[in-house]
Amino acid sequence: MAEKGEKVDGFHRLSTLWKIDYEVEALEPLLTGAAYEEAKEDVSDLLGKELPKTEPDAVPLFIEDRAVITGNAVKGVFRHIISAQLTEAGQKVCVQEIKLRKGVNAQKLGRIESCEPDNPCQVCKWFGTGGRRSSRKQDSDEQDSGRSSSGRQGALYFSMLVSRESIKDVLMKEPIPMVALSEDTNAMIAGRGEGRFAVLVAVKKGTIFSGWITGDNLDEAAIGAIKEIQDISEKGFLKFGGFKTRGFGSVKMRVKSVEKYRAAPFSLEKKYEGEELADFLKICQEAYHRLLTKV
Ligand SMILES: [Zn+2]
Repeated sequence: MAEKGEKVDGFHRLSTLWKIDYEVEALEPLLTGAAYEEAKEDVSDLLGKELPKTEPDAVPLFIEDRAVITGNAVKGVFRHIISAQLTEAGQKVCVQEIKLRKGVNAQKLGRIESCEPDNPCQVCKWFGTGGRRSSRKQDSDEQDSGRSSSGRQGALYFSMLVSRESIKDVLMKEPIPMVALSEDTNAMIAGRGEGRFAVLVAVKKGTIFSGWITGDNLDEAAIGAIKEIQDISEKGFLKFGGFKTRGFGSVKMRVKSVEKYRAAPFSLEKKYEGEELADFLKICQEAYHRLLTKV
């Protein structure tokens, strides 16, 4: 099976599996993102009050009665922070293809253009390379191995973050009216001819979300990068969802435990918690910091 070198790392030689349990607490109201029309109606019903508009312009994403932040959203934010740090340290980090298509200039940012799946930068090793449209033809064996034909899966997998309490307990009781500026058009704009303000229904400050990150054969630096984000979050610099520039979205992150499993036979080798966790994360973070000072 593993006659090609690139397939040996990660997929075939699975010696350890890692699970990092963590939670985030909203330090500000949070608009977790994508709103589809039905959700707006559901949330209006939940609030059970007359809104200044027929329905809110933005509501939190929720699934099965819980507010959620998608794993993709978490991954995107983490990737952004780590890319910025490694770039600052002079490491070659690529710009994701989706951003290149939006006209981002890689050189100006001190970055390289998208990585090839078989020659990933540090960030792509952890987060994966994006799908490439012009990808070379892949053989069926590679597809059978579970690897996407148009990209390389990163070492880290991010679960959804799910609110501990049900949606009715985490929604802010009062919708927030806000003058809509074009900078927020990604989130939404007061639309449909209903005036120049948006009505936002957000998840309230103090809401706690739980989730996890898993990874194959993680090195200390990868886990240290996550600890680094925890530190960054403690100062309010970790933000999720929409309207980040307008007082929404700061969260504080806390790693609760790190579990290390032997892959075969599958068994728990070590669970880091409490003081042992703190010591372990410190060592990991030092490994990550060495990446930031190398070059
Ligand atoms: Zn890359």
